[in-house]
Amino acid sequence: MPGSPSVHSSGDGKPRSGAREARSIDEIRERTSIVEIVAPHVSLKRAGRRLTGLCPFHPDKAPSFTVDPDKGLWHCFGCGAGGNVFGFLMQIENLTFPEAARKLAERLGVDLKGHREDSRARSLRDLLARINGEAASFFRRQLDDCALARDYLKGRGLSDEIVARFALGWAPPEWDALYKHLRRQGYHDADIEQSGLCVARKGGDGCYDRFRARVMFPILDAQERVVAFSGRVVEGAEAVGQQGGDTEQDQPAPKYINSSETPLFQKGRTLYAFPLARKPMGERGRAILVEGQFDVIACHAAGFAETVATLGTALTEDHVQVLRRHTGRVYAAYDSDSAGMKAVLRSQDLFEAAKLEVRVVRLPPGSDPDSFLAEHGPEALAQEIERAVTAMDYRLAAIAASHPDTDDGRLAMMGEVVEALAQLGDAVAQTHYIARLAERCYPGNRDRVRWMEQALHRELRKIPSRRRGSTGAAGVSATAESARSPRDGQGVGAAAVERQVLAAILQSEVAGRWLLKELSAHDFCDDIHRRVFDTIKTKTKDIGAPDVEALLAGEQEPDVCGLISGLALTEDGKAPDAELRKAVERLREWRDARRCQELLSKAGELGAAELNELTELRRRVSRLTGRRSIGEDSG
Ligand SMILES: [Zn+2]
Repeated sequence: MPGSPSVHSSGDGKPRSGAREARSIDEIRERTSIVEIVAPHVSLKRAGRRLTGLCPFHPDKAPSFTVDPDKGLWHCFGCGAGGNVFGFLMQIENLTFPEAARKLAERLGVDLKGHREDSRARSLRDLLARINGEAASFFRRQLDDCALARDYLKGRGLSDEIVARFALGWAPPEWDALYKHLRRQGYHDADIEQSGLCVARKGGDGCYDRFRARVMFPILDAQERVVAFSGRVVEGAEAVGQQGGDTEQDQPAPKYINSSETPLFQKGRTLYAFPLARKPMGERGRAILVEGQFDVIACHAAGFAETVATLGTALTEDHVQVLRRHTGRVYAAYDSDSAGMKAVLRSQDLFEAAKLEVRVVRLPPGSDPDSFLAEHGPEALAQEIERAVTAMDYRLAAIAASHPDTDDGRLAMMGEVVEALAQLGDAVAQTHYIARLAERCYPGNRDRVRWMEQALHRELRKIPSRRRGSTGAAGVSATAESARSPRDGQGVGAAAVERQVLAAILQSEVAGRWLLKELSAHDFCDDIHRRVFDTIKTKTKDIGAPDVEALLAGEQEPDVCGLISGLALTEDGKAPDAELRKAVERLREWRDARRCQELLSKAGELGAAELNELTELRRRVSRLTGRRSIGEDSG
């Protein structure tokens, strides 16, 4: 990479026309076979004109995932995810729209340079990836020259093959070895500093290396670019040479440090070894979550290639989402005393919200997967994984173990147990765990078991449920539903009728034209339906009939994409005309009823026009209600 690839000085190319961009995106879409893009991730079987398989976005038992090659769409009838080829790539590889477009463009050899992704941000990320890639090869070469580091890795049980698979390297002890190397490659100070690998000297005179005398672990993103590094100190190796110009060297060096965060690297979204683990995770239906780089590497070396780690942070919602897309179950294999374990136990609600099962692998106190494997071997770890327990089981056992085996001890324990159980939203699960715990505390003693069960249930009821569980949620959503759609039972019915109408618009040209003319967005009571209708209407103003691909092209919100693909592929999208006419009628009735309620709720402040409107609406609504109640209407 010769020359000077700085974004600060770059000014290549003039902006191209919008028409050219649109043509590129369309061209990509038309020339890309959706089946070819999906096939590496989902094993597809032909079913008529379509193909089906197990959904990669939720734990799927029936093949709910459908691909329609003619329409260029995919949709999961289980979890509702769906969209076009761009959306699939975005969700499965965790890419932004421009990244997905670029990837497909490269595959086809289509020129996307003029595409209006903010090209400045993109070229900055590209530049940072190039700097990190350059650093990775530098560190690798340094490892070849450093016997101390090679011996260290050998001492940790790493074969040459594993060192190569994880592209490990060595940051030499000098203060500016990498910095000088990057300068020689033509990179500018500002860019080197932005890469997170070097730190600007206080006097403003160049940079010094963040990583010195450390074994280097490159961190790759979903696109397999090097985006950052972790570095581990090696005992016996000392940083030497000119100092960094601050007091950093006086403090004991932390065992691990990571690159600072950059536009390319966010700790909270990155999992170590994810690109290596992605496929095994899908194939084995599980991910193993460990705490450190050496744990990951030891697991992979022992055949557990579905292993990943967070980078010195607690698990975030983003991490859980990434895992959730590739697997249905996560095994946390942490040192039982570690902060990481406590964090996983605290993350119960994240997992629950994502419908991702968590199991805790019980390693002996003080051991982590790396030391456990070294001592007991892969079969023993496989057995522990087999015997893993739910996070709640693990927590309850830990609470029980921390109190003495007496009645007083049990009483003291209950407070903590109740607090843990209160975080479970699900009353059925609470009952299950209470029964199990009571049985474990008083094996065979039916009276004591019942006493303890009753006491726990009583205490649990006193706690105001922090998380609204199944019953709470149902109550809340029922209220929300009836607020949106005032007449009895309208909510559920209205949503179905709205979907039927939208599906007809997308699937039938004749019916679509008529419905678009007859209805307005106000006729829909569900927000997302309203939004989709609005988008269809706006985008089809000129051409008359809606084009699903055109709708999806500009749409990047997964919920909306999933709804559109589902509407376009649903089997009952071709309702007879009479049914559609009735549907339109009902949407209008419901709209009147909503408006009526809206006016009634501010009755005191109504103007004359609004009062007239209200009178008219009430007349219409009560006429309908009367008709319905004597069973004239079959709806
Ligand atoms: Zn799904």
